Amino acid sequence: MKKRFFLWALLTVIMVLFCGVFSASAEGNTAKELTSSCNVSYGNEKTVISCGEKINGIYIEWKNLPGEWQGSDENGSFTGGADRFFHEFVNCSGNEITVNLNNFQNKVSLLRVFGEGQIPSDVQVWEKPCEEADIMLLSTHSDDEHLFFAGILPYYAGELGLDVQVVYMVDHSLNSAERPHELLNGLWNVGVRNYPVIGKAPDIYSESLSAGYAGFKNEGYNEAHFVKYVTENIRRFKPLVVIGHDVKGEYGHGAHMVYTDALIKALPLCNDPSYDNASADKYGLWDVPKVYLHLYGENEIVMDWDNKILDKFGGRTAFQVSIEEGFSQHKSQHWTWFSKWCGYNKDNPWNVNSAADIEKLSSANSGVLSKGNYSPRRFGLYKTLVGEDVNKNDFLENVNERELRGEEPEPTVTPVLNETPVATEAPAVTPSATDNVATENATANATAAPSGSDDNGENKGKKGIDPTMINVFMIALYLVAVAFLGYIVWMLRKRKKK
Ligand SMILES: [Zn+2]
Repeated sequence: MKKRFFLWALLTVIMVLFCGVFSASAEGNTAKELTSSCNVSYGNEKTVISCGEKINGIYIEWKNLPGEWQGSDENGSFTGGADRFFHEFVNCSGNEITVNLNNFQNKVSLLRVFGEGQIPSDVQVWEKPCEEADIMLLSTHSDDEHLFFAGILPYYAGELGLDVQVVYMVDHSLNSAERPHELLNGLWNVGVRNYPVIGKAPDIYSESLSAGYAGFKNEGYNEAHFVKYVTENIRRFKPLVVIGHDVKGEYGHGAHMVYTDALIKALPLCNDPSYDNASADKYGLWDVPKVYLHLYGENEIVMDWDNKILDKFGGRTAFQVSIEEGFSQHKSQHWTWFSKWCGYNKDNPWNVNSAADIEKLSSANSGVLSKGNYSPRRFGLYKTLVGEDVNKNDFLENVNERELRGEEPEPTVTPVLNETPVATEAPAVTPSATDNVATENATANATAAPSGSDDNGENKGKKGIDPTMINVFMIALYLVAVAFLGYIVWMLRKRKKK
């Protein structure tokens, strides 16, 4: 009798231990980084990566974009570079990966290698630019999106998971090796997943609209070029809302003024079939429903970024995320007065801890400040096809995506009463036709936003065991263990009675 009792007890202990181990392995599903243990043999025509264990993907930050390239793994050959992403993740698999690219070593600035599992969230697995954008943000330089437009990207792209397309005017790669990397790192950190569009114009400083245009003209880019660029992008992404710079260029930057001037000139042309046939044929026409300009003095709205608390960023505010996760990546710009203006400077001499604090700055802080101090909270509705804002606190107010895109409204299902309910049917839901797109898409895209390690839909559940199966299995194991324990207690009582 005693022997049998110990056998059961031993079995129970084994079961409990097994459950523990299984549960730990299910949680630790993040892909192991193999980089430091890999041997990378760079050659003139091909480079071979081997790590002593199975590789499941490589991440490359390019120094020089190579265009399309070929590689080979255990499944044969694969193609990289097709999307022209400056930071590129490549799915490949095997103990040895070959990159067939001339002079790979001089083209790559960072190479990371990963084993099986979920790719860590700091690895940038970019999606293509939006098919159709909810919001299109026209940022002149890379850093404006986190400064004068602070709050927008973490809130609308990161937290709500909307389709937000950033379109830059300036190409920093023409005169900086760092800024193109800073651009992507910043966007990725604040939750943008659709690859940005980057213009071709050089970064030229000027202090008026005419000086801005004159400077670009010297480099071969006239007004028509910028108007066409904005038109093309509006036609391509068909945004529900476009957000642009201050007409006065915030602190008076001529290039900011040029970008907004081009936007204003492009607006009536986007829907005009006689203008720029090439982009009209390629993308079709589009009349933008809503356009906001930063600091615009009419139909003003206030975006209260300090009260947008973002669950997906550990409860920080939208403003904080832009500065701490976005602008923080723009290391080459940290010496500028922007660092003091946004509170990023570690000494914080202007004492800025929120978006609202920026409005309290006085000219004593700096000669460059003026009306509203270029507050990222203040915008004006420059154009609307959907009426004036009433609440004045959401770029997507009054925006009904289906209606604006000319799609059929969702069928209304009326619940049928007085009928025997069928157990397998979900309760009928009546979708509200007035639901605004923010709420609609927030639910739909909830899983696409950044959160720990599960943001890469592409990689999700691809390797290893389905987590649901693991849960079911573990519950079953625990039940069995509890049953054993019950049996032991019952045996002990029985022995006591004897
Ligand atoms: Zn700028």
